[in-house]
Amino acid sequence: MDVEDAAGRILREVFGYPQFRGEQRQIIAHLMAGGDALVLMPTGGGKSLCYQIPALARDGMGVVVSPLIALMQDQVAALHEAGVRAAALNSAMSWPQVQETERQARAGELDLLYVAPERLLTERCLSLLDRCPLALFAIDEAHCVSQWGHDFRPEYLQLAVLAERYRNVPRMALTATADTATRKEMIERLRLREPRIFVASFDRPNIRYRIAEKDTPRRQLLRFIREEHAGESGIVYCLARATVEDTAAFLAREGVDARPYHAGLDSGTREDHQRRFIRDDGIVMVATIAFGMGIDKPDVRFVAHLDLPKSIEGYYQETGRAGRDGLPADAWMVYGLQDVVQQRRMIDQSEASAEYKRAATAKLDALLGLCETSQCRRVRLLDYFGEAAGPCGNCDNCLDRPEEWDGTIAAQKLLSCIARCQSATGLSFGAQHVIDVLRGNRTAKVEQFRHDRLSTFGIGADLDVAQWRSVLRQLVMLRLVQVDTDRFSVLRLTSASREVLRGERTIRLRRSPERSALRPPARRPIDRTRVTAAQAARVLSGDPGAAADGDDTHVALFEALRAWRLQVARQHGVPAYTVFHDATLEEIARRRPASIEELRAVSGVGAIKLERYGAAVLDVVQGTRPGLRPAAAL
Ligand code: ADP
Ligand code: ZN
Repeated sequence: MDVEDAAGRILREVFGYPQFRGEQRQIIAHLMAGGDALVLMPTGGGKSLCYQIPALARDGMGVVVSPLIALMQDQVAALHEAGVRAAALNSAMSWPQVQETERQARAGELDLLYVAPERLLTERCLSLLDRCPLALFAIDEAHCVSQWGHDFRPEYLQLAVLAERYRNVPRMALTATADTATRKEMIERLRLREPRIFVASFDRPNIRYRIAEKDTPRRQLLRFIREEHAGESGIVYCLARATVEDTAAFLAREGVDARPYHAGLDSGTREDHQRRFIRDDGIVMVATIAFGMGIDKPDVRFVAHLDLPKSIEGYYQETGRAGRDGLPADAWMVYGLQDVVQQRRMIDQSEASAEYKRAATAKLDALLGLCETSQCRRVRLLDYFGEAAGPCGNCDNCLDRPEEWDGTIAAQKLLSCIARCQSATGLSFGAQHVIDVLRGNRTAKVEQFRHDRLSTFGIGADLDVAQWRSVLRQLVMLRLVQVDTDRFSVLRLTSASREVLRGERTIRLRRSPERSALRPPARRPIDRTRVTAAQAARVLSGDPGAAADGDDTHVALFEALRAWRLQVARQHGVPAYTVFHDATLEEIARRRPASIEELRAVSGVGAIKLERYGAAVLDVVQGTRPGLRPAAAL
């Protein structure tokens, strides 16, 4: 049997998938032939199979270097569910467990061994590997070698020893970070030998991108979750720990099952929240960016940003955690002027070199460009990663094209108002005051400074406060207004402002439809809001009355399968998704297989799962036997 046949057979029989995705086949063939590789694929692109399949197909054990101990157990559990002989070695394990794993490795009883870099580099571990035939090394999250990146881990640098010590073992480095500088660093620092570089498309077509103006962020978030993702898993990113805590508490009060996660929580709480998020269905994790790397939960239905990330790379990595299973998912963000000011302030006030500050500013500006564009978000994102694409039809701008308008006069009014306020008193003022003067509001401060006598007083009554804020934000973006980043966020003109005031430059602005942040996706895989627990229970108990109409039964059956899956997962102590993914349950609910053969054809149903769960699944489909038959499941 040739290489491709062997890989294809493992794909179908062990993992239950009918086809390779993207370049998986070529990557696997290259590794199986003994070559080194660098694999760049977006989060959710399907990197794991690229090393799991060659590890199974080649002689010896595959060693997977992964930075996050807490997640290894779940990765191993998912492989066990598929019948793969996998184990982990890490500091969270007891001594007898370590010894048993080492014995299995020596006896050739393992196909895959997951190990943290610091563990791998111990003499004990290296000499264990010296005595085992090895299929390959897979170095996951390989961008951790980059000293410039935010995920830098010094141990990763030492992984270069593998190049010398295991000369004949192919190595692959994998990451979802795409930029070319990091690419070079990974190859050099890990000493990959003439690696083939595989760069997958970074497009994630099932993710819908939406970016809207921040107005009442928590309320906007709550509405988004309630209207579109009730009962589903999601991640909410915030910049500061305090915002994480407040937002999680707010959502919990409003009945959303939300938990906080940030580096200030003790590790026990953090791990507990992470574990629940991964294992249970429908938890919302409110987190700083400390959360997410290495989490491969496939059914995260949304990623929401309440604060602006620092770069497009960050935004893409974080949003990429949504919808790994390929089902529709949302990337939702709200942002406002304050975010821009805050991020610029953080750069200005950091102690980094001028060179670093310039780079950070350029990255932030690219992200702001994405936020303010009236064009397809996906086109913009992919362009940033060097990929050309056409309008996607699955982002807010494609679905609901924002109006562009000639904002030259509005800009002139705002700029001259800033100038007048300042020249009258020599002081500078913040956004709220300048907008009050524009709109002709006689506030105490306006009267105190006699700004009602300015020629610009009341010249902007035609726009409301939100509209003026939007104009201001865009002018800040265009660097036509500078917001002081040190003290009171006062506004100042810039050298470029003059051109606008003199009428030498026209300004196109974007009027974002407020509703775009709220517009629900056109197509949902399963409309959960339509199924009641009672309906699901009727299907589970085989009540023929449950079959009201086709769509309802489909939904109810999906829920029944989920309920069954949760029982099995609890019994086995594994995350629900390791039993079957939502995508697999959905396909089962749609096709209603009547036999083991029909069930085998469903994507995600491998041989071992068929053997273990086939009968029970068919029972749930036929509604003949409620719930779980323990004998069939074990
Ligand atoms: P990554 O590590 O690149 O973020 P994963 O390896 O976790 O992504 O894969 C993402 C999801 O896609 C997983 O749920 C995986 O089971 C699924 N997947 C990967 N390859 C295939 C394939 N060829 N067919 C169907 N599903 C796949
Ligand atoms: Zn689009």
